[in-house]
Amino acid sequence: MTDDSGFDTSALDRTERMVGAAAVREIIDLFLGRAPGELGKAIEASQNGDLETSAKALHSLQSSAAMLGATDLLEHSRKMYRLARDGDAKGFGAGTEQLKDAMDKTRDYLEARRRAGALPRIALVEDNPDNTLLVRALLEDSYEVDDYDDGESALEGLGNVRADLILLDISLPRMSGSDVLRKIRSEPELAGIPVVALTAHAMSGDRERFAQEGFDGYIAKPITDERALIDTIEKLLRARD
Ligand code: MN
Repeated sequence: MTDDSGFDTSALDRTERMVGAAAVREIIDLFLGRAPGELGKAIEASQNGDLETSAKALHSLQSSAAMLGATDLLEHSRKMYRLARDGDAKGFGAGTEQLKDAMDKTRDYLEARRRAGALPRIALVEDNPDNTLLVRALLEDSYEVDDYDDGESALEGLGNVRADLILLDISLPRMSGSDVLRKIRSEPELAGIPVVALTAHAMSGDRERFAQEGFDGYIAKPITDERALIDTIEKLLRARD
């Protein structure tokens, strides 16, 4: 739906259902990091008589605006693209303020959307189905949970559906949790995700050992303290934002 605000809010909802909240945040960040500057350059180029450069920038702005559901920005960038393409410097000059306004509104909208965010996404890598059920039950109200029963499927799944945090069992078939962590840290796309070790055989010195291996946190199984689990997760998610 497009409301008076000039945004089709269902566009990002659809994208979020497909790729997850974390990926939508990345899409928004990419746009905010790049598009306002590119628009500035497009306007500057038009003032220097280089409408071809302006047209190019506005062309790519149209597709971003469409994906984000920024209908006002889409409409204005479409109109300005045509003016630039047709070499109408005067018409282009007359439209720049409206275009800048549409970009400012889009930025406000996306920043608000980012803050409101959907539930953080947690990947649980655990081969024991009872533990998976338990952790799911504890977390499901506050987070989106994707579960994987071994390291291979987790690494594959994480490539498609990004997680905000990973709970990683240490004792897994074939690849151990420590092996999986090394893989995660070696993938540029995944390297920054906080990873919490889950271990069934708690021993003194574990916390230090897992920290040394590069885990961001540590939870001993059986999980009896729901609060401690959620506190650990929340602390890491806040540190990431
Ligand atoms: Mn296990």
